[in-house]
Amino acid sequence: MSATGTSDPLGEIFRRLIGNTGPISLMHYMGEANARYYASRDPLGAAGDFVTAPEISQMFGELIGLWLADMWINAGREEPVHYVEMGPGRGTLARDALRAAKRYGLTPSVHFVEASTALKDVQLASVPQAQWHHDLSTIPPYGPVLVVANEFLDALPVRQLVMTEAGWRERMVVPEGDRFVCIAGSQPMDAAIPEARRAAEVGTIIETCPGAAATIYEIAGRLKDQGGAALFIDYGHEQLRDGSTLQAVRQHLKVDPFIQPGEADLTAHVDFATLAPIAQSRGVRWLGTVPQGRWLRNLGIDARAQTLAQAAPQHGPAIEAAKERLVGEGQMGLLFKVMGLAAPSWPGGAGF
Ligand code: SAH
Repeated sequence: MSATGTSDPLGEIFRRLIGNTGPISLMHYMGEANARYYASRDPLGAAGDFVTAPEISQMFGELIGLWLADMWINAGREEPVHYVEMGPGRGTLARDALRAAKRYGLTPSVHFVEASTALKDVQLASVPQAQWHHDLSTIPPYGPVLVVANEFLDALPVRQLVMTEAGWRERMVVPEGDRFVCIAGSQPMDAAIPEARRAAEVGTIIETCPGAAATIYEIAGRLKDQGGAALFIDYGHEQLRDGSTLQAVRQHLKVDPFIQPGEADLTAHVDFATLAPIAQSRGVRWLGTVPQGRWLRNLGIDARAQTLAQAAPQHGPAIEAAKERLVGEGQMGLLFKVMGLAAPSWPGGAGF
C-alpha cells in the first residue's frame, strides 16, 4: 500500500496500517516517510531543512561539468551523449555543470530522474530543456551516459537487521504513545546475513540499502553497454561497519526520525564499500572513492575560487567561505565521498 498522495498525517496512516496488519519494516517506514516528505515541498536552502553542496557554491557543479567534459573528450567525443542526474533537487548542479561543459563543446541531452512533483517545477525553471523520468528504464538506450547523483543514495530506504537471543531479525516499526519505536520482527532473517558476519553480539545492527545497490547495478549495466561515466557523491563510509546510521533533519537540526514521519528528511550513510564491488561485478571500472575535499582540490577548486574572487572582489570572503564549507575537513570535505565509475573502454578520471 502507498501512503503518499493523501492529506492525513502519515503517522496516522501508519497507525491504522499497523493496527490492521501488524508491524511494518523500517525500510517501509523510511520509504513512505521520504516519499511524502519530498512530494510536498522544496526542502533545500537556508529557508528549508538542509543545504547541499550545489546550493553552497556554483563551483561544485562547474567542477563536475568539467570532469564530465574531460572524460567525454578523452573517450572520443561520441554523440549522442546524455547527461543523467538522479534526484536533481533544484536543478542547480545540472545548470552549473552544463554551463561549464558547454565551454568544452559538450552539450548533452538532459535527463532527470525525479520522484517529487514539487521539485520538478523548480527544476523546470533552472533547466528547461530537461526530460523527466520516474526511473532509469526510460533513459535512451544508445549513446554514452554521464550520470551524476549528489545526496540521492542517502535518501533511499535502508533495511536494518538486528541480532537477538533467537538469531537475526528485521527491525520493524510500531507506535508507542505519540511516537514510533523499533522492535525485532518475528521472522528469522539469518539467511539474509553474509556468513562471515553472522556470528555477532546480541544488539548488533546491520544496515543495507537495496535501492542503492539496485541503482548502482543498473547504472553499471548502462555504462558497460552504452559507454559513459558516473559520479556518486554522498556522506558515507568506505569501510564495512555495524550500527544504525538513520537520521532525520528538519530546519537544519537533527530530530528524532520516529516522530512525525513525512515531516523531516530521513537519510542514512551510504555504504560505498558494498557499492563499488557491485559495479565491478558488471565489468565496469571503479575509479575510486575519495573524500570530497580532496577530489575538489585535485580538480582545481582553489584556482577556480581565486578567479571568481578576482572577477568580483566584493564577494571574495563569501567565495572563500563557501569553498571552505565544501572542502574543510570539519565540514563536508571528509565526511562526503565521491565515487567514480567508468565504462571499461573509457579513460581514468581526474581527481581520483
Ligand atoms: N541532488 C540535489 C538534491 C538532493 S535531495 C542536491 O544536491 O541539491 C534528494 C533528491 O532526490 C531530491 O530531488 C528528491 O526528490 C530525490 N529523491 C529522493 N528519493 C527519490 C526516489 N526514490 N526516486 C527519485 N528521486 C528521489
